This record gives sequence, C-alpha cells and structure tokens, in this order.
Amino acid sequence: MAARLAKKVLLIGWDAADWQMIRPLLDKGWMPALQRMISEGVSGNLATIQPALSPMLWNSIATGKRADKHGIHGFVEPNPDRSGIRPVTSTSRKCKAIWNILSQNGMKSNVLSWFASHPAEPINGAIVTDRFVASISEKCGDIPPGTFHPQRLRQPLSELLLRPTQLDAQALLPFVPRAAQIDQQKDDRLIKLAGLIARASSVQAAACRLITDEPWDFSAVYFSAIDEFGHFFMPYHPPKLDGVSERDASIYGEVMTGCYRFHDMMLDALLAYAGPETTVILVSDHGFLNDERRPGPSAWEHPERWHRSFGIACARGPGIRRGEPLYGATLLDVTPTILAMFGLPIGADMDGRPWLEIYEKPPRAARIASWEDERGEAGMHPPDMREDPEDSAEAIRRLVELGYIDAPDADTEETLRKVARDRTTNLAIALSNSRRAAAAVALWEKLADENPEREGYLIQLAMTLIRLGRNSDGRNVLERMSEDARRSPYVQVMLATIALAEDDPGSALSLAREALRQAPSEPSIINRAADIFIRLDRWPDAEDAFRKSLEILGDNSAAHDGLAQVYLARDEPQQAVEHSLQAVGLTHFFPAAHFHLAEGLHRCNKDWEALAAYDTCQKMGYNPEQVRRRKTEIYGARGHTARGTVPPQSETDIP
Ligand SMILES: [Zn+2]
Repeated sequence: MAARLAKKVLLIGWDAADWQMIRPLLDKGWMPALQRMISEGVSGNLATIQPALSPMLWNSIATGKRADKHGIHGFVEPNPDRSGIRPVTSTSRKCKAIWNILSQNGMKSNVLSWFASHPAEPINGAIVTDRFVASISEKCGDIPPGTFHPQRLRQPLSELLLRPTQLDAQALLPFVPRAAQIDQQKDDRLIKLAGLIARASSVQAAACRLITDEPWDFSAVYFSAIDEFGHFFMPYHPPKLDGVSERDASIYGEVMTGCYRFHDMMLDALLAYAGPETTVILVSDHGFLNDERRPGPSAWEHPERWHRSFGIACARGPGIRRGEPLYGATLLDVTPTILAMFGLPIGADMDGRPWLEIYEKPPRAARIASWEDERGEAGMHPPDMREDPEDSAEAIRRLVELGYIDAPDADTEETLRKVARDRTTNLAIALSNSRRAAAAVALWEKLADENPEREGYLIQLAMTLIRLGRNSDGRNVLERMSEDARRSPYVQVMLATIALAEDDPGSALSLAREALRQAPSEPSIINRAADIFIRLDRWPDAEDAFRKSLEILGDNSAAHDGLAQVYLARDEPQQAVEHSLQAVGLTHFFPAAHFHLAEGLHRCNKDWEALAAYDTCQKMGYNPEQVRRRKTEIYGARGHTARGTVPPQSETDIP
C-alpha cells in the first residue's frame, strides 16, 4: 500500500463558484480566507462534465465516475410506487462513494448535505443528508426520517437549524444595504434571500459541530447557496443587463458580492476548526455566468444556460506545493485524488485521475480494477433497499396494467413521463461526452422516436454517430429532419464534416462558411468550422476563426488547440507548444491536444517531454498507429538516448 499523505481531509463544495467572480474580490482583499488557501496551496480551473446538472455532478465528484456508472440522472426520480416524483436518493446510487470506500478501510467520514445522500447510509462516521436544510423551506418544516446517521445526531443538530424568521433584519443589510426601500408586500426577494442565508448558516453550524465533536478522517460539506443566490440575484450584478430595471440593479446589485464574502467568512471558520494539519480541498461543480454573456434578465429560464464550463479547485495541506497553479483538473479527479491522499489505490473503473503533481514529492498511486468488487463493510444500504428508480416504477406500471393497483391520475402520469424523458436525455448526454459514446446511440434513437416533435434529439443522434465515424448513418438521420431544422448551423457543420469524409471538399467549404455566416459569435460553431478549414489546408481562414473564437470565449481549449495546429503548420513550434499547454491545461481529457503538444515538443527538441505527451494521448485512445509510429521515430533516430531533459516522474493517467 502507498503511504498515507494526509492525516485528515476536508472537502468543501461551493456549488457554482466561479473564478471570474472571485478574482476581483481577491484583488480588493475581500476574500482573505480563500486568498490564504491559494497562497498556501494549489489552485486552478475545474472542468465540469456534461450535462452540467448539480446532483449528477456532485455524485461524480463523490465517486470519480460519470452518471452512467453512478446512476444519479437528474434532480428528481419517480417514486417507486409511481405516485409522483421525489428528489434523487442515495438508494439509486449504483456505486460506492468515497465515504463508502473509506468506511471499508476503517476510516471515519462526516458527510453533510451532499446531493442525493438521503436516506443516510450507515457508514463508519456520520451522515446528515440534503433533506436537513431542505426542511427549512418546506411548509411543515419537519426533518424527515433517514436524515441522520447515527440517529443520536438528530437532537443536537436539529437545534442548530436556523429559520428565516429567526434572522434579524440587520443580517440582510450586508447583502442589500437599501433594504428599507423595498415594499415587501409586492417584492418577495428579501424573504427569498433570508431563506438562502438561513440554509447556508445552518449547514455551516452543523459543519462546525461535526468537525469539532465527531471524530473523522474525512469530512465533506456541501453548500448550495452560491448557485441558488446566482439563480435569484446574478441578473442584478453589475454591469446592468438589458431587461433589468435601474431600481432592481441598484437595490440588488451587491447581493452576489455579499454572497461570496459570506462564503469566505464561513471558509475562514472551517479552516480554523479543521486546523493546519488537515488537508483541505475546495471545489465547485461548474461556474456561473456573471458578465455580459449572461443569457437574460431571469436566471430561472433555462437555468443550466447560466452554468459556465469551469468551476474552481484549490487544495492546501502538508506536503502540497504552495502558491502553484493546478492544470487540467476535472471534477472526476476529486475522488481519485482523495484516495491517493489516504494512500489507497484508485479504481481503474474511475473516470478521473489523481492530482499527484500537487505534491512537492509526487507520490505514485496504486491501482486496483474496481472498488466495487472489494469486500468489507462499506456502510452502504442493504441491496434490497437499493433500486433503480426506473425499474421499480416500471414494475409498478405493470401492476397497474394487470389491475392490481390504481393508475396514477393523468397529471401524475404526464409528470412521470416527462421525468423519465429528462433522465434518459441526461444519461445520453453524459454518455455522448465520454469514451462510451457508442452506448448513447440507442438512447438518442429511442428519444427521437418517442418525441418526434423535438428535432433536437435527431441533431444529438447525428452528432454522436458522426463522432463515432458513422458518417452515412449520420447523414440519414439529418435527412429525416424538417427543411427548417436542416438549415441550423449545427447541421451545416455536421454536413461539412460528412462532405469531407466523402471527399467533397467544395461542399465542405461552402457548408462551413454558411455555418459561420449564421452563427458568427457562437464559439462551438466557429471552432468546428475552423477545424474544417484546417482539414482543407486553409490555414489563414482557420487562424482568423480560432482567434475570433478565443476573443469571444477566453477559456476555450478547442481554439487553443486549433491555434497550436496553425503554428505547427507554419513551423513555429514554440508558439504551438504554448497554445497546446493552454488547451490541455483547461481540458485534460483532450487526446488530440496532447498529440499536437507532443508534435510541438518534438520539434522543439524536447524528446522526453514529447514522449510523455505521446504516452498521454495514447492512453486516451488517440490514433494508436500514428502515435506508435511517432514514438518509434524518436527512439529510432536517437537510439535510446532521447534529447532534452528527463521529466520528473509523473503519474500515469487512467486510460
Ligand atoms: Zn451546481
């Protein structure tokens, strides 16, 4: 077994925290606790995964696995008796969370308010589920059974719950200095704000209590407030958005700043209680738009459109480098990283990698095939309690058909149908963005068949087929679409890709240009059109397009990788390498970008570094023939003495 690097680990979750919001506050000195974490440890972007829905993401954080493996497919699931729907539960999680693995290894965990942690699992340690603070906003306000493990925590922790009505008006003034001007008969936003503050304060109080009174090796605390504040108040954050009134902007314009400062104060207390010997990891699951790219005056319309693809990550603790950047992190890495900190092996079935490079002396991580097969008491629910919510709902539906029980009324039936559709969509998106994209095809086909009025499903199906190289199948799907839908720029770039594959460069070029004409400021379209230009050897066009895309969206790994290819073609490998490093620093799982990085490094005479980059893209499954050839060339040309400096021993990525 590898050495244990951390005595204790505290994982703090700030839903939707975003560096773009945080950086100006750090500059003003308004987030001193976070500033300390940054200077005493490593920090960087944390790439989210699709779909960027919080319950799915926080379960990926806690398991190191994508949604198809962990089984949490949205915010809600059908009740097993089909009487309606309920928030997602721990009984539908299909795999072990980090606290189960730690339980199994004799370590104690405290888990507070985590998404889909209800009912509490009987782990070695304590769990207070997400229904604890949810009860604050529910009308009856009772904390449901199953909220606490062990049960003895119910009494002391219930006493810590703060109700919005217990908040003094003074507590709201730091967020809304002009609260006195609000007519509360007509405007309920102050009440909403009080509810959010009460919930976050209750989580904080319970966290401090668990940290100080319950013994632990690992503590996980989740705060939903930055996301919820954002959906209520980010539209009023300066600069003023079109559609937001002057009055709202002036009264509510400081709420988001207040929210971040409030979280910094809570962080300060948590760090103090945890003590300097504790390793602390702070992450968010995605960012939150806060500038002129905000989609409109309401953050409740299409809430997921407000989520940015990069959240935050920081880690500080004994042995961790100080004041250093963290590159290429994704939320799938959190569980592998914590396992490595405890000296435990990483499951090869986990989708992320451990951040070993954050240590002054990077350790080696051990690996096992899967933690799911390891025996030992993991503190999970007994098998008869764990169930696939769709399977149980399906079993009930059959009983209804047979006449054993009454059918749900038409409204409930419609709700259940919509929930099932959304959950399948979420699963299909999760698969389409993974190495298991082939498994998404059948799901998109089913969704497209069952919902012929929604042509978006056909677009998704075609995109997945084309990504898998099934071009003619993709074309057939696009031909099933209406004339109108086929004019969309997304369809144009797909047709361009197919035209290229079918050796029709003329059509590919005009289709790519048409897509650009239709969506001149949509980075995903620009990047894909520019890719077509590259493949047509139209380098100046490609360069223009990638630069434009980068101007519109700064954190843009595809544009950086595109520019790297442009510089390689121009034989300016130094600049190519710089862009490649930006690309893989933003998105670690980007096989082609690692390949282009390797090409650039090789041409800069850095053979060892180039070999490491070739290894990385090879493990990610990038064109095995081509990579093997390149590696042989390097070894062949130099015998076994490659040029350049020997890189430090780095971790191996999980293939
Ligand atoms: Zn979230």
